[in-house]
Amino acid sequence: VTEDLRQLPARLESVREQVRAACRRAQRPAESVRLVAVSKRKPAALIRAAYALGQRDFGENYAQELRDKADELADLDALRWHFIGPLQRNKVRLIVGRTTCLHTVADLGLIAALERRAGRDGVQQEVLVQLELAGETSKSGAHLGSLPALLEALRRCAHVECRGLMTMPPPAADPQQVAPFFQRCAELLRDHAPAEEPGFIELSMGMSHDLEVAIACGATLVRVGSAIFGERS
Ligand SMILES: *Cc1c(COP(=O)(O)O)cnc(C)c1O
Repeated sequence: VTEDLRQLPARLESVREQVRAACRRAQRPAESVRLVAVSKRKPAALIRAAYALGQRDFGENYAQELRDKADELADLDALRWHFIGPLQRNKVRLIVGRTTCLHTVADLGLIAALERRAGRDGVQQEVLVQLELAGETSKSGAHLGSLPALLEALRRCAHVECRGLMTMPPPAADPQQVAPFFQRCAELLRDHAPAEEPGFIELSMGMSHDLEVAIACGATLVRVGSAIFGERS
Protein backbone atom coordinates (compact mmCIF):
# COMPACT_ATOMS: atom_id res chain seq x y z
CA VAL A 1 0.00 0.00 0.00
CA THR A 2 2.81 2.42 0.89
CA GLU A 3 4.41 1.83 -2.49
CA ASP A 4 1.05 2.23 -4.29
CA LEU A 5 0.47 5.48 -2.37
CA ARG A 6 3.90 6.76 -3.31
CA GLN A 7 3.39 6.01 -6.99
CA LEU A 8 -0.22 7.16 -7.15
CA PRO A 9 0.34 10.81 -8.22
CA ALA A 10 2.57 9.86 -11.16
CA ARG A 11 0.42 6.92 -12.24
CA LEU A 12 -2.79 8.92 -12.08
CA GLU A 13 -1.26 11.77 -14.03
CA SER A 14 0.04 9.38 -16.65
CA VAL A 15 -3.40 7.81 -17.18
CA ARG A 16 -4.99 11.27 -17.31
CA GLU A 17 -2.49 12.27 -19.97
CA GLN A 18 -3.30 9.10 -21.93
CA VAL A 19 -6.99 10.06 -21.83
CA ARG A 20 -6.27 13.67 -22.85
CA ALA A 21 -4.01 12.53 -25.70
CA ALA A 22 -6.67 10.10 -26.96
CA CYS A 23 -9.24 12.94 -26.86
CA ARG A 24 -6.93 15.21 -28.87
CA ARG A 25 -6.36 12.52 -31.49
CA ALA A 26 -10.10 11.86 -31.70
CA GLN A 27 -10.75 15.63 -31.84
CA ARG A 28 -12.99 15.43 -28.83
CA PRO A 29 -13.03 17.84 -25.87
CA ALA A 30 -11.13 16.45 -22.87
CA GLU A 31 -14.24 16.93 -20.67
CA SER A 32 -16.23 14.54 -22.87
CA VAL A 33 -14.51 11.52 -21.29
CA ARG A 34 -14.55 10.69 -17.59
CA LEU A 35 -11.95 8.48 -16.03
CA VAL A 36 -13.42 5.89 -13.65
CA ALA A 37 -10.64 4.78 -11.29
CA VAL A 38 -11.29 1.12 -10.54
CA SER A 39 -10.42 0.63 -6.87
CA LYS A 40 -11.59 -2.94 -6.29
CA ARG A 41 -9.57 -4.79 -3.63
CA LYS A 42 -7.61 -1.62 -2.89
CA PRO A 43 -7.84 0.09 0.50
CA ALA A 44 -9.89 3.19 1.25
CA ALA A 45 -6.66 5.10 1.99
CA LEU A 46 -5.70 4.91 -1.70
CA ILE A 47 -9.13 6.16 -2.76
CA ARG A 48 -8.83 9.05 -0.33
CA ALA A 49 -5.43 9.92 -1.79
CA ALA A 50 -6.77 9.82 -5.36
CA TYR A 51 -9.67 12.03 -4.29
CA ALA A 52 -7.19 14.54 -2.88
CA LEU A 53 -5.62 14.57 -6.37
CA GLY A 54 -8.97 15.54 -7.89
CA GLN A 55 -10.26 12.10 -8.88
CA ARG A 56 -14.04 11.89 -8.37
CA ASP A 57 -15.25 8.73 -10.17
CA PHE A 58 -14.41 5.35 -8.67
CA GLY A 59 -15.40 1.85 -9.78
CA GLU A 60 -16.03 -1.21 -7.62
CA ASN A 61 -16.93 -4.81 -8.50
CA TYR A 62 -18.21 -6.33 -5.27
CA ALA A 63 -21.39 -5.14 -3.54
CA GLN A 64 -20.22 -5.57 0.05
CA GLU A 65 -16.91 -3.90 -0.70
CA LEU A 66 -18.66 -0.93 -2.29
CA ARG A 67 -21.02 -0.62 0.67
CA ASP A 68 -18.14 -0.68 3.17
CA LYS A 69 -16.00 1.79 1.27
CA ALA A 70 -18.88 4.15 0.52
CA ASP A 71 -19.75 4.25 4.22
CA GLU A 72 -16.13 4.70 5.26
CA LEU A 73 -15.58 7.50 2.73
CA ALA A 74 -18.97 9.17 3.15
CA ASP A 75 -17.23 12.44 4.13
CA LEU A 76 -15.83 12.87 0.59
CA ASP A 77 -18.39 15.17 -1.03
CA ALA A 78 -19.12 14.66 -4.69
CA LEU A 79 -17.34 11.32 -4.87
CA ARG A 80 -19.17 9.19 -7.46
CA TRP A 81 -19.27 5.40 -7.15
CA HIS A 82 -19.71 3.24 -10.24
CA PHE A 83 -20.63 -0.40 -9.83
CA ILE A 84 -19.00 -2.34 -12.66
CA GLY A 85 -19.18 -5.98 -11.56
CA PRO A 86 -21.97 -8.51 -11.97
CA LEU A 87 -24.71 -7.82 -9.42
CA GLN A 88 -26.97 -10.44 -7.88
CA ARG A 89 -30.52 -9.37 -7.12
CA ASN A 90 -30.14 -10.07 -3.42
CA LYS A 91 -27.25 -7.57 -3.26
CA VAL A 92 -29.20 -4.69 -4.79
CA ARG A 93 -29.93 -3.19 -1.37
CA LEU A 94 -26.19 -2.80 -0.70
CA ILE A 95 -25.53 -0.56 -3.66
CA VAL A 96 -28.76 1.41 -4.26
CA GLY A 97 -28.45 4.79 -2.58
CA ARG A 98 -24.66 4.60 -2.66
CA THR A 99 -23.92 4.12 -6.34
CA THR A 100 -24.11 6.92 -8.89
CA CYS A 101 -24.21 4.52 -11.82
CA LEU A 102 -24.56 0.76 -12.13
CA HIS A 103 -22.87 -0.27 -15.41
CA THR A 104 -23.90 -3.92 -15.59
CA VAL A 105 -27.65 -4.24 -16.03
CA ALA A 106 -28.40 -7.17 -18.32
CA ASP A 107 -31.63 -8.82 -17.22
CA LEU A 108 -35.24 -7.99 -16.46
CA GLY A 109 -35.16 -9.50 -12.97
CA LEU A 110 -32.40 -7.14 -11.90
CA ILE A 111 -34.28 -4.15 -13.32
CA ALA A 112 -37.38 -5.11 -11.30
CA ALA A 113 -35.30 -5.52 -8.12
CA LEU A 114 -33.64 -2.13 -8.66
CA GLU A 115 -36.97 -0.40 -9.26
CA ARG A 116 -38.42 -1.89 -6.08
CA ARG A 117 -35.45 -0.99 -3.93
CA ALA A 118 -34.93 2.52 -5.31
CA GLY A 119 -38.66 3.19 -4.94
CA ARG A 120 -38.63 1.98 -1.37
CA ASP A 121 -35.56 4.10 -0.53
CA GLY A 122 -36.96 7.11 -2.42
CA VAL A 123 -33.88 7.47 -4.66
CA GLN A 124 -33.16 7.52 -8.39
CA GLN A 125 -30.73 4.89 -9.68
CA GLU A 126 -28.81 5.52 -12.89
CA VAL A 127 -27.81 2.44 -14.87
CA LEU A 128 -26.20 1.36 -18.12
CA VAL A 129 -27.16 -1.75 -20.05
CA GLN A 130 -24.17 -4.06 -20.46
CA LEU A 131 -23.98 -5.69 -23.87
CA GLU A 132 -22.15 -8.89 -24.81
CA LEU A 133 -21.52 -8.15 -28.48
CA ALA A 134 -19.22 -11.06 -29.30
CA GLY A 135 -22.11 -13.45 -28.68
CA GLU A 136 -20.23 -15.36 -26.00
CA THR A 137 -22.74 -17.07 -23.74
CA SER A 138 -20.26 -17.61 -20.92
CA LYS A 139 -19.73 -13.87 -20.45
CA SER A 140 -21.97 -11.48 -18.58
CA GLY A 141 -23.89 -8.92 -20.56
CA ALA A 142 -27.11 -8.90 -22.55
CA HIS A 143 -27.25 -10.17 -26.09
CA LEU A 144 -28.30 -7.79 -28.81
CA GLY A 145 -31.72 -9.36 -29.25
CA SER A 146 -32.73 -8.58 -25.68
CA LEU A 147 -31.75 -4.89 -25.80
CA PRO A 148 -35.18 -3.57 -26.92
CA ALA A 149 -36.99 -5.40 -24.11
CA LEU A 150 -34.48 -4.19 -21.52
CA LEU A 151 -34.77 -0.58 -22.69
CA GLU A 152 -38.56 -0.86 -22.72
CA ALA A 153 -38.57 -2.20 -19.14
CA LEU A 154 -36.24 0.63 -18.06
CA ARG A 155 -38.49 3.24 -19.71
CA ARG A 156 -41.35 2.02 -17.54
CA CYS A 157 -39.33 2.44 -14.33
CA ALA A 158 -40.02 5.49 -12.18
CA HIS A 159 -36.85 5.14 -10.09
CA VAL A 160 -34.32 3.65 -12.50
CA GLU A 161 -32.94 5.75 -15.32
CA CYS A 162 -31.00 4.27 -18.21
CA ARG A 163 -28.08 6.55 -19.10
CA GLY A 164 -26.47 4.48 -21.85
CA LEU A 165 -24.56 1.31 -22.70
CA MET A 166 -21.50 -0.58 -21.50
CA THR A 167 -19.48 -3.25 -23.25
CA MET A 168 -16.34 -5.33 -22.70
CA PRO A 169 -14.98 -6.85 -25.88
CA PRO A 170 -13.18 -10.20 -25.82
CA PRO A 171 -9.45 -9.93 -25.08
CA ALA A 172 -7.32 -9.15 -28.12
CA ALA A 173 -3.59 -8.82 -28.57
CA ASP A 174 -3.98 -5.72 -30.75
CA PRO A 175 -6.41 -3.10 -29.36
CA GLN A 176 -7.44 -2.20 -32.93
CA GLN A 177 -9.14 -5.58 -33.17
CA VAL A 178 -11.75 -4.53 -30.63
CA ALA A 179 -12.71 -1.34 -32.49
CA PRO A 180 -15.69 -3.03 -34.23
CA PHE A 181 -17.24 -3.88 -30.84
CA PHE A 182 -16.86 -0.31 -29.62
CA GLN A 183 -18.23 1.06 -32.89
CA ARG A 184 -21.20 -1.26 -32.72
CA CYS A 185 -21.96 -0.17 -29.16
CA ALA A 186 -21.77 3.52 -30.19
CA GLU A 187 -24.13 2.84 -33.13
CA LEU A 188 -26.60 1.10 -30.84
CA LEU A 189 -26.59 4.11 -28.52
CA ARG A 190 -27.35 6.38 -31.47
CA ASP A 191 -30.00 4.03 -32.88
CA HIS A 192 -31.88 3.86 -29.58
CA ALA A 193 -31.37 7.46 -28.49
CA PRO A 194 -34.49 8.96 -30.13
CA ALA A 195 -36.81 6.76 -28.09
CA GLU A 196 -34.93 7.34 -24.86
CA GLU A 197 -34.67 10.36 -22.59
CA PRO A 198 -32.14 13.06 -23.53
CA GLY A 199 -29.82 11.65 -20.85
CA PHE A 200 -29.22 8.43 -22.82
CA ILE A 201 -25.67 9.45 -23.77
CA GLU A 202 -23.10 7.41 -21.84
CA LEU A 203 -20.79 4.78 -23.33
CA SER A 204 -18.76 2.87 -20.75
CA MET A 205 -16.07 1.17 -22.80
CA GLY A 206 -12.31 1.02 -22.76
CA MET A 207 -9.79 -0.11 -20.14
CA SER A 208 -6.09 0.63 -19.80
CA HIS A 209 -4.97 -1.31 -22.88
CA ASP A 210 -7.73 -0.18 -25.25
CA LEU A 211 -8.92 3.19 -23.98
CA GLU A 212 -7.48 5.07 -26.92
CA VAL A 213 -9.50 2.98 -29.40
CA ALA A 214 -12.59 3.26 -27.18
CA ILE A 215 -12.28 7.06 -27.04
CA ALA A 216 -11.91 7.22 -30.82
CA CYS A 217 -15.19 5.26 -31.00
CA GLY A 218 -17.04 7.61 -28.61
CA ALA A 219 -16.48 6.29 -25.07
CA THR A 220 -17.61 8.72 -22.33
CA LEU A 221 -16.50 6.58 -19.36
CA VAL A 222 -13.23 4.65 -19.36
CA ARG A 223 -12.44 2.22 -16.54
CA VAL A 224 -8.83 1.92 -15.39
CA GLY A 225 -7.64 0.11 -12.26
CA SER A 226 -4.14 -1.26 -11.87
CA ALA A 227 -2.47 1.45 -13.98
CA ILE A 228 -3.62 3.92 -11.30
CA PHE A 229 -3.62 1.93 -8.06
CA GLY A 230 -1.03 -0.77 -8.79
CA GLU A 231 -1.45 -4.49 -9.44
CA ARG A 232 -3.99 -6.34 -7.29
CA SER A 233 -2.61 -9.15 -5.17
C1 LIG B 1 -11.28 -4.65 -12.91
C2 LIG B 1 -12.03 -4.00 -13.99
C3 LIG B 1 -11.49 -2.93 -14.70
C4 LIG B 1 -10.09 -2.39 -14.48
O1 LIG B 1 -9.15 -3.37 -14.73
P1 LIG B 1 -7.57 -3.08 -14.60
O2 LIG B 1 -6.97 -4.21 -15.30
O3 LIG B 1 -7.27 -3.06 -13.15
O4 LIG B 1 -7.31 -1.77 -15.23
C5 LIG B 1 -12.28 -2.33 -15.67
N1 LIG B 1 -13.54 -2.77 -15.94
C6 LIG B 1 -14.09 -3.79 -15.27
C7 LIG B 1 -15.47 -4.22 -15.61
C8 LIG B 1 -13.36 -4.44 -14.28
O5 LIG B 1 -13.92 -5.47 -13.62
